[in-house]
Amino acid sequence: MENCLFCKIAEGSIPSNKVYEDDRFLVFHDIEPAAPTHVLIIPKKHIATMNDVEQEDAALLGDLHLVAKEAAKKLGVAESGYRLINNCGPDSGQAVYHIHYHLLGGTKLGALVQHSSSHA
Ligand code: 5GP
Ligand code: ZN
Repeated sequence: MENCLFCKIAEGSIPSNKVYEDDRFLVFHDIEPAAPTHVLIIPKKHIATMNDVEQEDAALLGDLHLVAKEAAKKLGVAESGYRLINNCGPDSGQAVYHIHYHLLGGTKLGALVQHSSSHA
């Protein structure tokens, strides 16, 4: 997919700090970590958002969870715990329109949701 940042990272034309790679997946460190451990897990196939997932992607996204499990082990957070997050669309704050999971850990994580409300 042209002009997709994560497709470029997946094909290697933009460098990343890789944790794991195979022919279908890449795990790499987030450039702006929000926790001591913060990696992104992507399928190399371009799927823009969760809304664009098709039945034919079921096995791919199922296997992505095995990749996440192994990444958590490798990063040393499997036992201490971690959070897997997918942002989909504007209200979630999705910035890169190539489906990805954030794997966050290495500290006690805060509230699941922070509303950007009138109190902000
Ligand atoms: P989103 O908001 O789409 O769920 O998350 C996108 C994530 O990609 C953000 O956490 C952001 O820090 C990360 N990111 C954006 N550009 C780059 C980049 O060029 N390299 C890496 N490694 N991460 C990036
Ligand atoms: Zn892409």
